[in-house]
Amino acid sequence: MSRALVTGGAGFLGRNLSLRLLDEGWEVVVLDNLSSPSPLGPADGATFVEGSVVDPPELPGSFDRIYHLASPASPPRYLLDPIGTLRTGGEGTRAMLDLAAAQGARFLLASTSEVYGDPTQHPQREDYTGSVQVTSTRACYDEAKRYAEALTYAYQRQGLVPESRIIRIFNTYGPGMAPDDGRVVSNFINQALAGERLTIYGDGTQTRSFCYVDDLIEGMWRLSNSDVTDPVNIGNPEELSMKELATTIAQSIAETGIDYLPLPESDPARRQPDIGRARHHLGWEPTVGLAEGLPPTVDYFRSLIDG
Ligand code: UDP
Repeated sequence: MSRALVTGGAGFLGRNLSLRLLDEGWEVVVLDNLSSPSPLGPADGATFVEGSVVDPPELPGSFDRIYHLASPASPPRYLLDPIGTLRTGGEGTRAMLDLAAAQGARFLLASTSEVYGDPTQHPQREDYTGSVQVTSTRACYDEAKRYAEALTYAYQRQGLVPESRIIRIFNTYGPGMAPDDGRVVSNFINQALAGERLTIYGDGTQTRSFCYVDDLIEGMWRLSNSDVTDPVNIGNPEELSMKELATTIAQSIAETGIDYLPLPESDPARRQPDIGRARHHLGWEPTVGLAEGLPPTVDYFRSLIDG
């Protein structure tokens, strides 16, 4: 049986990826330090090992693939411990690449649209070099992921890992998210469900493009099976402003009003993936729009509240 290590497998995307791997008949080992877990925890059927990728514990057996997702991922979480975020992206990625090298495992790095910073090119293609303000607070995450990509490339180029893949993940939502991780979709839904006012940061004209989790995992699975070694954007190009998102969520749950709060530093003004590469090489495109993806996400958050 094929075996995969999923770092960050107790988190939102790691849990959903583990479920997919188990469905595909893989044996799954999860390594996670539980710093930002999904309320649902690691997938049933996966072997869970608690520990950090920066100083990894002994792991059972050897792996055919390492899916390296471990990192704080929402802005409030990665800004809590900037040095820790940089160490996770740098030292943690290095430790997992060394493990892949020692075991001859295929390595997939979960990178991010944040490598583009506050982009001056729109939509963002993979060959866009990005616009990161290196002294900004967000740089701890952006630069950690940029370094992790460069390190992955270096290991591949120097022939240390047999094969590597890099997925650049755009904003993703769906069942399994933590209600308190501070992301906009989870904040708005939980605020509306609690009868509280929605918090828009800035004037709400900034845009994002939200991908449903099942689509994201399908893209990650296809990329990991492909022979594409260049980075690939996976996200839904359906772009909307935070004001439009607030209106959509309020209309589907409850009209509770809006509070406008200060915009965080270096918050990207616009973000939308160009998915030409994923379409061409993976035959992938998203199939679930916001209209279809929000109801199961709202049901999920409601079920957490109702117990
Ligand atoms: N945002 C907001 N209200 C919130 C949380 C976030 O208006 O309660 C904004 C945030 O400033 C950003 C966008 O929503 O412009 C997406 O934020 P998120 O934290 O979900 O992810 P990001 O794309 O910034 O990593």
